[in-house]
Amino acid sequence: MPITMKINKPTARNVMASVSEGGLEMKCCAKDCSIDLKGFEKILGIFDDGAFKMVLCPNHQIMYVLGKVKHEDMELMPSSITERNKCELCDELAIRFEDSETTYELCSHHMAKLIRHNLNREEFSKLYLKHGNTFLLHDDFYEDDGEAIQPVK
Ligand SMILES: [Zn+2]
Ligand SMILES: [Zn+2]
Repeated sequence: MPITMKINKPTARNVMASVSEGGLEMKCCAKDCSIDLKGFEKILGIFDDGAFKMVLCPNHQIMYVLGKVKHEDMELMPSSITERNKCELCDELAIRFEDSETTYELCSHHMAKLIRHNLNREEFSKLYLKHGNTFLLHDDFYEDDGEAIQPVK
């Protein structure tokens, strides 16, 4: 093995690839999470708020955006954001959310709406144009016109 390797920033995709190659274990970082994701690692998502990076299962993604799971309740990794971008939907600074399909950069307000399947029509169509028919934008959660079907309260 060569000692020097090109280090790429870890992304959901290559972290998940290393899972299937038998590399590091990929699991929800909430300390009390008991969900068994063996074989379902692709439903995990990674938040990066500029300070910390957190791998979370769908339940804990919702708890995180609702403020019900805090930094101290999770095994944190250091952030890999070097420069924070603006939200894709407004002028606020974005946090990053990466799943196996795409990477969203949204402020905490719009991130909470995305994760809770509760975007309004205008927000939905902007993100849909950019990201396409991803898991979080698919038609179980929104009507054709972008109306939210089953927002998480
Ligand atoms: Zn979890
Ligand atoms: Zn925003």
